[in-house]
Amino acid sequence: MFCDQCEQTVSGTGCTKVGVCGKNEDIQSLQDILLYGLKGVAAYAYHARQLGSRDEEVDAFMHEALFKTVTNVSFDLADHLNMVLECGRINLRVMELLDKAHTSRFGNPTPVEVDTGTRKGPGILVTGHDLLDLYELLKQTEGTGINVYTHSEMLPAHGYPELRKFKHLAGNYGGAWQEQKKEFAAFSGPILVTTNCVLTPPPNTYKDRLFTIGVAAIEGATHLKERDFTTLIKKAKELPPLPEAPGKKILTGFHHTAILGIADKVIAAVKAGKIKRFFLIGGCDGAKPGRNYYTEFAERVPKDCVILTLACGKYRFNKLDFGAIDGIPRLLDVGQCNNAYSAVQVALALAKAFGCGVNDLPLSLILSWFEQKAVAILLTLLYLGVKDIRLGPTLPHFVSPNVLKVLVEKFAIKPITSPDADLAQILKKK
Ligand code: SF4
Ligand code: SF4
Repeated sequence: MFCDQCEQTVSGTGCTKVGVCGKNEDIQSLQDILLYGLKGVAAYAYHARQLGSRDEEVDAFMHEALFKTVTNVSFDLADHLNMVLECGRINLRVMELLDKAHTSRFGNPTPVEVDTGTRKGPGILVTGHDLLDLYELLKQTEGTGINVYTHSEMLPAHGYPELRKFKHLAGNYGGAWQEQKKEFAAFSGPILVTTNCVLTPPPNTYKDRLFTIGVAAIEGATHLKERDFTTLIKKAKELPPLPEAPGKKILTGFHHTAILGIADKVIAAVKAGKIKRFFLIGGCDGAKPGRNYYTEFAERVPKDCVILTLACGKYRFNKLDFGAIDGIPRLLDVGQCNNAYSAVQVALALAKAFGCGVNDLPLSLILSWFEQKAVAILLTLLYLGVKDIRLGPTLPHFVSPNVLKVLVEKFAIKPITSPDADLAQILKKK
């Protein structure tokens, strides 16, 4: 454990074995998990609020949960366990709030093919998660001859009718966040960062054309206020144009409303034995070695199985050709990390259709994490009682051995091993 929360901390630097106050490593671990879960809740609540939606219960929970982590408030393990599961419930609520805010403003996403190349002419690249920033930029660049490209977690924007209607929303450029120094350097236009994950320091190759907005800020970049993109647009016109370079097409837009729109087809394919299993392979991507597991796993998923994916972990395999089963694509991109809400809705609808619980469905979850905010989604799945989640590429170090034991006993959570071994174990259970 590590805690430097109060003045009586050991040697004035930090309690590492047990707290002078009596706090043990399990309470510390659960407090960390709660705080990290709250980061996810905060991010989604922030986006929803930008779109005019807020929820009193979510706000009240934020206050109570943060208060709970103050020094000498609660030393009760069960109390903390309840609180982290409650954080999962609240995160589900806030993801629903954000989903409704997105769909009521931009329409229900529908499947769409997105070009990964570039069009001749000036261009702006938009990264991060904030769809409202993208929408305002599209409005202000309409008719200027500037093309707008999405990057990383912005890819699902193409699925929304009110964003896709802009003809100059030209495609998706690049992959997940960890490639950005190379990819931003190669993009000749300005780059707008709306949220995490942005890398610093920005190299001189693009520092002068890097713009931030909202919560994002980088020393040396230009920070924009009030969604006024005048300076960004001016910069795009001054910089060299992008070349005509069509790329491979990738699919996105499989929001739960789109998948449930073809539910009859999906259910019939399952009943006919044409779809044997669903795999949710998604979450954050990252730079450390070992993440090739997710590419290899997706490649090895049997041809009679369907893969759902979300967040930037999809870039490990979303340019591969997975084909289709009875016209249902074998790779369904449900969206950003907050669209875990859509994946949950699909799982609940399938469970209802088959008259069983989510854990009885032929569904396996293979998740990757990077940023602490992803903890919120894991807590939501645990709150829903989802079992057998495989998590990698490493288990979070802030989970103490005893807390991990509880997660294993109660939820059968597992670390990933190798694609072959994990797949063999999953398929054996069929
Ligand atoms: S709150 Fe407890 S564990 Fe944390 S620094 Fe103070 S005495 Fe140590
Ligand atoms: S999914 Fe995770 S790693 Fe990817 S951009 Fe979002 S927070 Fe960052």
